[in-house]
Amino acid sequence: MTKDSHDECEPRFDHDSEMENVLQNREPVTRSRSLMQRGGERMGLPQHEIMELITPQQVTTFRIPCKILGKVVNFAGVLALHNNARGPFKGGIRLAADVTIWETIELSRLMTLKCAACDVEFGGGKTGIRVDMPALYNRFGRGPKRDLEFEKIISLDAVEYYSQHFRDVFSRHIYVPAPDMGTGPDEMAFIYNETLDPASVTGKPEGTPGWLPGRKESTGVGCCYIALRAMDEFLGLDASQAKIAIQGFGNVGKPLAQGLAEAGCKVIAITDFFGGVYNADGLNIADLLEHESIHKTVDGFAGGEPMTNEQLFEADVDCLIPAAAGDVITSHNAGDIKAKLVVEAANMPTTVEGMDILQQRGIRVVPDILANAGGVIASMLEYSSSLSAVKPSKEDVLETCKRKIGDNFALAVGYAQEHGTSVTEAAVHMATERVYAVMKSRRMM
Ligand code: NAD
Repeated sequence: MTKDSHDECEPRFDHDSEMENVLQNREPVTRSRSLMQRGGERMGLPQHEIMELITPQQVTTFRIPCKILGKVVNFAGVLALHNNARGPFKGGIRLAADVTIWETIELSRLMTLKCAACDVEFGGGKTGIRVDMPALYNRFGRGPKRDLEFEKIISLDAVEYYSQHFRDVFSRHIYVPAPDMGTGPDEMAFIYNETLDPASVTGKPEGTPGWLPGRKESTGVGCCYIALRAMDEFLGLDASQAKIAIQGFGNVGKPLAQGLAEAGCKVIAITDFFGGVYNADGLNIADLLEHESIHKTVDGFAGGEPMTNEQLFEADVDCLIPAAAGDVITSHNAGDIKAKLVVEAANMPTTVEGMDILQQRGIRVVPDILANAGGVIASMLEYSSSLSAVKPSKEDVLETCKRKIGDNFALAVGYAQEHGTSVTEAAVHMATERVYAVMKSRRMM
């Protein structure tokens, strides 16, 4: 899928950031950057202060030699520390073949905004490690069938060497990592093994010191809650009347689909990296979970017809939920979306151009920094309970996620109504104001 302005790197700002001067190339125009610029202008800030808010505080690139199954593999990666005005840099570790510096910076900025938008006392950071699985299958003479054990060895080894490299950063709580695409609780356990500090990492597996009940499903549960609430508030639609399409059936997509189905919605389409499935009467999510646990994809599920990712975005549904990759709603498909509501479970699934088209077409959007904040809200509880050794219950964790998302969603909707903006713009504005206030009071600018 074409990625709009991300491809072109067209400058749209008169002022380069210090980071752009150092890297000697310009950041692609991204939604968070554009909206922070607009927010800063609305707040009446001078351009140099807006650039302070937009620009990351530190970006480290690395190349780590890992000994894997008797061979040396050099993994390249980026650690982007965007802003720690409101708390330690916080954000997931992404393993993917297409990781870039600017993408990792954008994701770290999104974490700053997400934590501020949901009033979580963390800043924003992110790690991207370039792991090209197909190339590694070739190099190790594996395949053509998918070998999950081999993929696990790769991801665990990559994270183990990475955590040795950055142990000090984690141990001092400068940056507190968590899972993102390509990583999960298993990889977080390796970070704990390195630091032996329960508060140095969140998203730890059950039983590991400092693990949190409810953390695993928190993002999906929070997203399900806000999707149901937005369908009610924006569309006047009860769950029993709602038809939903979801892209992605992983850490986020699975509890999300399960929650929506349990609430009475018809989840009629789900796709993933390998394919998809459609059933006009609603997919049986329990059966689909079982299919996925065996085949590691929804593709080939007997309880529906095959569906492609392109078809999913044009499906005749009330609510469309991207819960997989970024940049999937663009100028090329935003005009074809039939859903009246988009709930952004994935991080930055919509390009600037895609966002403008959705807004012109009157399609309501719950932005990523609210919709998928359940994970970082639970991480805040995991961090604080790791420090205090007092563990909250799963019910309390999930209730806190819903409350914090719900309260801040209401504030963003109120701001949007008052100022005639979208909820996305309102949420970014609110977050930018909160970060700015602390940067000023801490004399960070
Ligand atoms: P995951 O790796 O567990 O699952 C990703 C799912 O998306 C899989 O089903 C995969 O097949 C599918 N997918 C990946 N690339 C795809 C593509 N190009 N086209 C179609 N499907 C694709 O990841 P996750 O943890 O569920 O994360 C999903 C999204 O949610 C990401 O954008 C992530 O940044 C965001 N997110 C995750 C969390 C969390 O707690 N896990 C928190 C906040 C945001």
